[in-house]
Amino acid sequence: MEIVEHIEAIRTLRPRFERLGLVPTMGYLHEGHLSLIRRARADCGAVAVSIFVNPTQFAPHEDLARYPRDLDHDLRLLRQEQVDLVFVPHNSIIYPPDFCTYVHVEQLTTMLEGRARPGFFRGVATVVCKLFNIIQPTHAYFGQKDAQQCVVVQQMVKDLNLPIQIIIGPTVREPDGLAMSSRNAYLSPTERTAATTLYRALQSAKELYVAGERNAESLRQSIQRVLAAEPLAQPEYISAADPTTLDELETIDERGVLLSLAVRIGPARLIDNILLPNKP
Ligand code: AMP
Repeated sequence: MEIVEHIEAIRTLRPRFERLGLVPTMGYLHEGHLSLIRRARADCGAVAVSIFVNPTQFAPHEDLARYPRDLDHDLRLLRQEQVDLVFVPHNSIIYPPDFCTYVHVEQLTTMLEGRARPGFFRGVATVVCKLFNIIQPTHAYFGQKDAQQCVVVQQMVKDLNLPIQIIIGPTVREPDGLAMSSRNAYLSPTERTAATTLYRALQSAKELYVAGERNAESLRQSIQRVLAAEPLAQPEYISAADPTTLDELETIDERGVLLSLAVRIGPARLIDNILLPNKP
């Protein structure tokens, strides 16, 4: 496993691999990340993982400074997965002092996470585009856990004609349904128990959908009712949107629905979502 901090070293190593799958991460790795790495290995043979807590996607009041980090543990996991290339750049490599070019994906970034976190997707699109240009993968892997990020990255790749295939992996969950996330480390035991409410809320809406409900507001209300029963949960948004345009729906048709939510529980801001009908 090659661990690389500098762009020149990546340029030297890159010709070793014909197909190369990239899994971009912010580290503090868990099974969600590892599932993407295994998929990349199966598809491409060679896997690159980037670990970079990207400052441009954090607002000044957000959790950049306290975002969990454990590089030694991450590298141990990546070695077990026999990852070929690990890119761990310092901030100054990605953002030199004179840096002034950003990627802005319009429209799709105005709602949901983009509305709640202005500037977030500008940071995400910029760093993902830079990682693509630096590592030059043939394939790149993203988790459905960050549903809007998947939509935004796919749009960026299409609009900028980037020669990279984007693959979306399913959300990996704890046995009680909580979506795995590095930010779950912020939760106290009581908050951790309360956090299962996100999954239960989504499941309540799924049950209505499976029973035939196609009124989007009924699904949003079902989610809202489950969240309201958990005193520690402070919902930020609840959405039933078109999976492609991310526009809020009134009636759900054959294009299906992306149910998503952001909820504060104690010090953590958690997000989760499900796509209906479930993709096989
Ligand atoms: P992060 O390190 O949180 O920025 O995540 C890096 C990549 O892993 C992103 O594409 C995430 O969507 C994906 N990811 C994070 N959590 C999960 C999860 N529970 N299941 C599947 N993918 C995930």
